[in-house]
Amino acid sequence: MAKHTHSSSPQTSPTAVSVPQLRATLKGQVIAPQDAGYDEARTVFYGGFDRHPAAIVRVADATDVSHVVTLARESRLELAVRSGGHSLAGHGVSDGGIVLDLSDMKNLEIDVEGRTVWAETGLTAGEYTAATGAHGLATGFGDTGSVGIGGLTLGGGAGYLVRKHGLTIDDVLGAEIVTADGRLLRVDAEEHPDLFWAIRGGGGNFGVVTRFHYWLHEVDEIVGGMLILPATPEVIASFVAEAEAAPEELSTIANVMVAPPLPFLPAEAHGKLVIMAMLVYAGEVDEGERAIAPFKALAEPIADMVKPMRYPEIYPPEEGDYHPVASGRTMFLDAIDRPVAQTIVEYLQASRAQMAVAQIRVLGGAMARVSAEATAFAHRTRRIIVNVAALYERPDEASVHEPWVTAFAAALRQGDAGVYVNFVGEEGEGRIREAYPGSTWDRLAAIKGRYDPTNLFRLNQNVPPATEG
Ligand SMILES: Cc1cc2nc3c(=O)[nH]c(=O)nc-3n(C[C@H](O)[C@H](O)[C@H](O)COP(=O)(O)OP(=O)(O)OC[C@H]3O[C@@H](n4cnc5c(N)ncnc54)[C@H](O)[C@@H]3O)c2cc1C
Repeated sequence: MAKHTHSSSPQTSPTAVSVPQLRATLKGQVIAPQDAGYDEARTVFYGGFDRHPAAIVRVADATDVSHVVTLARESRLELAVRSGGHSLAGHGVSDGGIVLDLSDMKNLEIDVEGRTVWAETGLTAGEYTAATGAHGLATGFGDTGSVGIGGLTLGGGAGYLVRKHGLTIDDVLGAEIVTADGRLLRVDAEEHPDLFWAIRGGGGNFGVVTRFHYWLHEVDEIVGGMLILPATPEVIASFVAEAEAAPEELSTIANVMVAPPLPFLPAEAHGKLVIMAMLVYAGEVDEGERAIAPFKALAEPIADMVKPMRYPEIYPPEEGDYHPVASGRTMFLDAIDRPVAQTIVEYLQASRAQMAVAQIRVLGGAMARVSAEATAFAHRTRRIIVNVAALYERPDEASVHEPWVTAFAAALRQGDAGVYVNFVGEEGEGRIREAYPGSTWDRLAAIKGRYDPTNLFRLNQNVPPATEG
């Protein structure tokens, strides 16, 4: 039987980091508390994580990564590993420790003929997609261009191509990873297959991935964009039914929320509950228009921006200084019928947050055809992901919004537990176990024991190392 060690807290106190020595050793930039730019460099996407690392290292290459990993191990300082900084749990920044920031590592080697790419993990989904899109090729990431390919891929990756081409990990052919001992390993189906399995869903537990080797699909002209519909219970339930019945070329992400005063919305829609849906049909344009027509017929659209476009346009430019505080919960649901949709409407209308949202992602298709054991993402047959969240400005408002989100999630919950790890916040070990049910957890813990026995990589949705005994 495997049992778990309790090695998440270091036995002896950490030693201080010498910034001059770090600067002398590394090619990348080292940002210390007294430096201009420190506050910007310690900022992650979500607000409410006011943490002060001893140093932020913008690594330049795998050798830098290896040095920083070794330093963290030897000094026993906490190590935060950051790709795009979008962790819902604020895992991209440490209080008092070292931040290993990959955002300067953006090299991309595309093999157009072979339809593969080696991509460094400092790239965002938007940057990667723009570069491969120039060749009419793509890998599926999430719904937001600024999310890092590092964190997104390691947890699974579900987005606009999930039904057509599966999760992001289903397109991972291999990776290069610096493990806790500072070694750079090449992993794939032949080399270190255990580690290759674990990094496809197991998150940042096993080392720092410096680059991924991905498969590219021909995804060039698509039909896609935003469709805004009034959010009555009938329309929400029918939208989900249409999304489930649609051909798998079509993936949808429907955000049910109160319409903000956006310039492209008529004034009378502002403040009303709407479905802001993103649709992507990755196939022939005329077939895509036919597949999307039933959604437009559910109600008179408030706005219809669905059109033929090049795939990279699905990631528009984003506002750089948006850092909301969030209270959120994620779950898998089996069905959203009219009563469930009614519950969604009632809770959203009752929220006092700046923005309250229920995000509905219908799954299936290619994602569901991979076996639950093939990767560390075990939830292959789950039908719908729902994320409910309140977004607001100040952390001290949490006492209002946490009870709301807890009650909302409880009112929706159906059937088996289980969560997609990338949508989990700081929610405790029980939720991490829900992300990795049954044998997936045991397998991850055993592999963790082999590659990171002292739990150096612990500022993440942590799977502690198992020891044989
Ligand atoms: C606005 C928004 C939209 C999102 N949309 C989607 C979506 O559509 N689909 C989806 O699947 N997910 C989505 N997510 C969730 C997202 O996948 C996770 O938050 C993910 O962890 C973010 O990755 P990151 O690299 O940007 O974050 P970071 O905070 O940089 O990293 C998160 C964690 O991943 C690990 N990590 C990151 N890079 C590396 C690396 N190179 N090596 C080792 N460990 C690493 C670390 O443990 C780190 O703490 C979204 C999140 C946000 C905030």
